[in-house]
Amino acid sequence: MTVVTPPERGNKTVELSALRRAIELERRARFSDFQGKSSTFSQFMRMISDRLCKLYPIDSRWATIRGLFRQYPNLDVATRISIVNRAEELIEQLIEMQRSRQSVEKSTESASDPHAGRAASSRAPAVTGATEHGGSAAGAMREPQEGRQEPPEESERGQESAAGKQKESKPSRASDRRLTQSIDQIEVKYVRGVGPKMAELLATLNIFTVEDLLRHYPRRHLDFQNHLRISQLKPGQEVTILGTIRSAGAFQARKGNVSVLNIVINDGSGSISVMKFVGGKSNKYLLDRMKGQYPKDALVMASGIVEQDRYSSKLRLKNAEIELLGASTADDQDLETIHTGRLVPVYPLTEGLSLRHLRSIIYNALDTYSGGVTDMLPAEIIERYELSDLAAAYRGIHFPEEPSERDRARRRLVFDELFAIQLQLAYRRYQFDKVESALALNCQQGGLVDVFKQLLPFKLTGAQERVFGEIARDLASGKQMHRLVQGDVGSGKTVVALMAFLVAIENGYQGAMMAPTEILAEQHYRQFVRWLTPLGLRCALLLGKQGARERRQTQQDLLSGQVHIAVGTHALIQEGVEFANLGLITIDEQHRFGVKQRAALKAKGQNPELLTMTATPIPRTLALTCHGDLDVSEIDEMPPGRKPIETKLITGGAKKDLWGFLRGQVQSGRQIYIVFPLIEESETLSAKAATAEFEKLRTGVFSDLRVGLMHGKLKPQEKDEVMDQFRDGELDILVSTTVVEVGVDVPNATVMVIENADRFGLAQLHQLRGRVGRGGEQSYCFLVADLKSEATRQRLEIMTRTNDGFVIAQKDLELRGPGEFLGTRQSGLPDLFLADLVSDAEILEQARHAAIDLIKADPDLERHRQLRSRVELALDSAAADLIGSG
Ligand code: ADP
Ligand code: MG
Repeated sequence: MTVVTPPERGNKTVELSALRRAIELERRARFSDFQGKSSTFSQFMRMISDRLCKLYPIDSRWATIRGLFRQYPNLDVATRISIVNRAEELIEQLIEMQRSRQSVEKSTESASDPHAGRAASSRAPAVTGATEHGGSAAGAMREPQEGRQEPPEESERGQESAAGKQKESKPSRASDRRLTQSIDQIEVKYVRGVGPKMAELLATLNIFTVEDLLRHYPRRHLDFQNHLRISQLKPGQEVTILGTIRSAGAFQARKGNVSVLNIVINDGSGSISVMKFVGGKSNKYLLDRMKGQYPKDALVMASGIVEQDRYSSKLRLKNAEIELLGASTADDQDLETIHTGRLVPVYPLTEGLSLRHLRSIIYNALDTYSGGVTDMLPAEIIERYELSDLAAAYRGIHFPEEPSERDRARRRLVFDELFAIQLQLAYRRYQFDKVESALALNCQQGGLVDVFKQLLPFKLTGAQERVFGEIARDLASGKQMHRLVQGDVGSGKTVVALMAFLVAIENGYQGAMMAPTEILAEQHYRQFVRWLTPLGLRCALLLGKQGARERRQTQQDLLSGQVHIAVGTHALIQEGVEFANLGLITIDEQHRFGVKQRAALKAKGQNPELLTMTATPIPRTLALTCHGDLDVSEIDEMPPGRKPIETKLITGGAKKDLWGFLRGQVQSGRQIYIVFPLIEESETLSAKAATAEFEKLRTGVFSDLRVGLMHGKLKPQEKDEVMDQFRDGELDILVSTTVVEVGVDVPNATVMVIENADRFGLAQLHQLRGRVGRGGEQSYCFLVADLKSEATRQRLEIMTRTNDGFVIAQKDLELRGPGEFLGTRQSGLPDLFLADLVSDAEILEQARHAAIDLIKADPDLERHRQLRSRVELALDSAAADLIGSG
């Protein structure tokens, strides 16, 4: 079969393989309508096939695929499976067709089809590129393929087409490809040692091209520099040995409550018995299962301490750590070669793929195709940041001669990953700034803002003044504002947002504020009404639950310009909501909205200014990665008179005392929250848990107090009632799920009790804790948890030591990693293969500087075409949704 996509057309193949990849993932996700970062599997399939449908209207298969996925989310698994199978069949046909068409075209040297012409033009990525990243539904933040500008040389084309005619012949022309093709264009099956079966296995690891293969980085390297053979071992040594399993047995120990696993390992120089103790009594079934994990001939690594059996005087490794490296392909001879190596890479594997085989094909790929590694990083950057050459980095990450070589290689590859993101952000930022006809809103002397400040019952903090100054400058400039205000819970972001609105209003514009929950939107609305009424200004509330009549009235008022600020949930972006003259948008807790929602709101005005706010403190490395295209202001000072919240850990026994304490607080007029975690992401289950506890407290210890219940399953009206009662002090205790997490502001509430606190991330605990400590009274937070492990205790103790959201966020990031930290849904975090946002902070800063400098010097990337098409590919794609915040 012919070869490879010729560079001048290319992209349909990419689309097809993205679809294939998505199917692969969906299978692995057991047909759950896998949720990628920006869309679900079925949305993704529909989106891509829809696009192709429009591009290739003659081929009805695209329409069929699109149709197949319309009902997908509502169908049972069996039907889903047959849909996926059918789609796959069609896709395979299309792939086949694409291939044969290409080979025909090539052999006849016929002109390419009109789409190929488009693909070569610079705008092409809008259509085709999206998939490459849309493939990010399939988890890819891979280097997008380059839409090359120049066709290959005539002579090479001749050779390729010759190869094209020899169907089915395994190409003996690796050398041609080596010179002419970029590694992201070469299918992995052309690598020496990769047969059809192997190619299938690799596909399950998402490896389709040579580049994918080279980017299948080792998990780590085994260092056999000071490696001992089994025949050389002596009692008392702490060693790591490598060998194959000769036999494995498992039995119940005669004494004690343990089972023993005995595995004999041989490394060609001798054998040793490795013992492992497994707690608990076992039956035959369990023993067999245990044993079954260690198949004969599997390659394993074991580390432990050598000891001598007192009776037989044989050596053994006691209670060793055993790691399976691969299935049954190593023989003694292979072990010899591995032993002679020094740093041996260990890869993530899949069933049926042995470490040794994978290692050898990666070796072959490096050997044959290093010439096809195209380094897009400008030479100045490579030089300035003393980075290794890309081909050398690929070699060094896989087969380093010594640890320092691997570290250098890693640094280069991490730099590339982070640079790709930062360049997109910088480029995007520049594109924002280019927008012409941006508004220029001037804050007037003695205008609304000054009047408002005089009416406020408090004085703004220095930080609030500073941040408002930054916003006012943005508003006044002829550039569009894209600013994020970060401020810890309770730092007073709302006032600042309101002042920004006042500037817009006095310039003749309206404002819109979008909040993620109804509770929060209502609260902002209430606050705004209180502040705006004395100024003679009007504010409207838009919620999904509102009736048609109410909504119609509001819509009319907005359109006629009688309402100055609209506050609402995503109901704001619905059709029919139109503004007379929208000039400023504020988005509270911005990370809770997708880019599409934010864009939809922006589309309600003409280049309105954008202010986003968040109370989720994000460590700098993450912030730079998630929204490096926004200007950031920090409200880093709390309003005066706030007393630091006292936080305590409570374990089982101490709960009685806690109830006593709560009663005391209620008696002195304070109010209390008791919060239950989200149980397994299910609001229904959490609602149940909260309800059960509510009943218990209401009828038990606190039967004489006024206890209310709040959870996501209540009807909107019921929620309102409960919130109103609590706000008005008609309830002493509010039992709730995490729906009160964000932004709720009841200054008289001074105690936050968090049940099962160990189930929350620190950032979330901090958010919850922020519901109290909003008035002048001393406030308390009690974290109730079973401290099952020391790690849990340490984690929760961080909360008792600091009230600083940024310190907590940094710790949380270190403890849980970025994915967990933000949660995938809201993270906006691109896949990073090697880069680690905690330990690679320094490389991140460098990559960011490099990207910003490059954009400053060459804003449209005119002189870096390859990079530009890569950036545009990414920005056009669904993946762009994940990155930016504008
Ligand atoms: P957040 O930053 O969590 O959104 P809010 O804007 O809700 O904080 O403010 C928290 C509380 O502090 C509100 O009750 C608000 O009125 C009050 N507040 C805001 N700024 C000040 C200030 N400078 N001095 C005193 N109280 C303030
Ligand atoms: Mg707030």
